[in-house]
Amino acid sequence: MRPPASSPATIGNMIAAGQYRKLSLWHDTVPGTLTPGAPLRGDAEADVAIVGAGFTGLWTAYYLARADPQLRIVVCEREIAGFGASGRNGGWCSALFPASLSKLERMAGRGGAVALQRAMHGAVDEVGAVAAAEGIDCHFAKGGTVQLARSPAQLERAKAEVAEAREYGFGEADLRLLTAAEARAMLGASDVVGGTYTPHCAAIHPARLVRGLADAVRRAGVAVYERTPVLRIEPRRVTTAAGTVTAQYVVRATEGYTPGLPGLERAIAPVYSLMIATAPLPESVWEQIGLAGRPTFGDLRHLIIYGQRTADGRLAFGGRGAPYHLGSAVRPAFDRVPVVFEALRRTLGQLLPAVRDAEITHRWGGPLGIARDWCASAGLDRETGLGWAGGYVGDGVATTNLAGRTLADLITGTDSELVRLPWVGHRSPPWEPEPLRWLGLNAGLRVMGLADHEEARTGRPSRAAGFMGRFLGD
Ligand SMILES: Cc1cc2nc3c(=O)[nH]c(=O)nc-3n(C[C@H](O)[C@H](O)[C@H](O)COP(=O)(O)OP(=O)(O)OC[C@H]3O[C@@H](n4cnc5c(N)ncnc54)[C@H](O)[C@@H]3O)c2cc1C
Repeated sequence: MRPPASSPATIGNMIAAGQYRKLSLWHDTVPGTLTPGAPLRGDAEADVAIVGAGFTGLWTAYYLARADPQLRIVVCEREIAGFGASGRNGGWCSALFPASLSKLERMAGRGGAVALQRAMHGAVDEVGAVAAAEGIDCHFAKGGTVQLARSPAQLERAKAEVAEAREYGFGEADLRLLTAAEARAMLGASDVVGGTYTPHCAAIHPARLVRGLADAVRRAGVAVYERTPVLRIEPRRVTTAAGTVTAQYVVRATEGYTPGLPGLERAIAPVYSLMIATAPLPESVWEQIGLAGRPTFGDLRHLIIYGQRTADGRLAFGGRGAPYHLGSAVRPAFDRVPVVFEALRRTLGQLLPAVRDAEITHRWGGPLGIARDWCASAGLDRETGLGWAGGYVGDGVATTNLAGRTLADLITGTDSELVRLPWVGHRSPPWEPEPLRWLGLNAGLRVMGLADHEEARTGRPSRAAGFMGRFLGD
């Protein structure tokens, strides 16, 4: 494997303002304008400066403003609120955390692991409650998640997941094993041999949530500056081309884009996830597919796939498999990889033969952020006033809400259960220098794809996938 010619991730490289509708199905269908709000003009002073107006930045601003309406809070966003992963994702507002219970137990003991998982359950409901309270119609439907097992190897993983949950005291009401018939009754897919079901997930329209949240924080007095690229983050200072924001606390909420900031090149690896969406499907097709109550769905393959039935009757379906780019580069061109879109369409047709010939109206993607040890974290360095949250992998929709509440408690000095959760203050080691990072991540993605083929052929769990999982940090 030979790395392509490198060019560094860029900061000031904005897309044309008229292009935002084309970013994803969600941007295309979100009500209201996507015309950027005012940028920062000149220097400013604040109590808290937040870099990035995705879910992390906006939830942090939301809870800070609620905790202390007097706080002067400034958010600087390079593009528009919801430009990044927060506006483009699969819309699983789930209780998934990107580190297993056993890994969390190794980090912080059994009590900490269980407390974090329970906090994640609570975060799903909190998102729904705030959306309702703020009048944000984000199509929140708490239908849970059905994960199909479609080979004996996948069924083994389903059983292992349920067994692990039981070991930590989570019962049938949190995660249960499904027979093939039960799983098929939820989702009329091919080759189903069983599955799992958890009620702890809601399907949402992510751009409606993130844009609604930006409106809510503005109503609360937060200044959200759009088209304002941040060039540098330092203690008490955020430097942009238009001016400097001086603040006691500076929060980095840039997730997959983080390596573009000086000094943070190896903090997070941006890995792309890509999605497609069908045109609205006729009722006769939904009768074959099911998904009544809009549970989100996937199967238990290694190279993750995820889907949801949207409120307007489409299937939005995504997966990993797009390459990692040398030097952690992030560019608009990387959002669209025709061979991956084609593979997603094929996979969707194999999974749900009823939509094999459905029209695909939208294709998009975006970078998510992965910490070297695959564990998300949130924290605040009291000495420097620098705060951060991220490394959510593909599980950021509800986790960002927990991060926002946690950062607000840390900044206001509120002693709460949240600030004692094991991910708070956790520091992942940095990623390897290039080209090792490129080689490792792309080899990992390749092995996961090959392992799925092997398991589909033999029915037995792939040893290579187990080895790669350990190498990648779980
Ligand atoms: C295709 C896809 C599908 C996904 N599906 C799911 C899912 O179904 N469920 C789930 O839980 N998670 C999912 N995720 C992950 C989830 O979307 C993210 O974890 C979450 O949105 C991260 O939010 P954030 O605010 O931290 O980052 P982002 O939403 O990426 O926001 C970062 C913001 O910072 C801005 N920014 C970056 N650099 C600068 C700078 N220098 N100056 C100013 N602004 C800057 C960016 O423009 C961006 O708006 C998915 C991600 C992708 C890409």
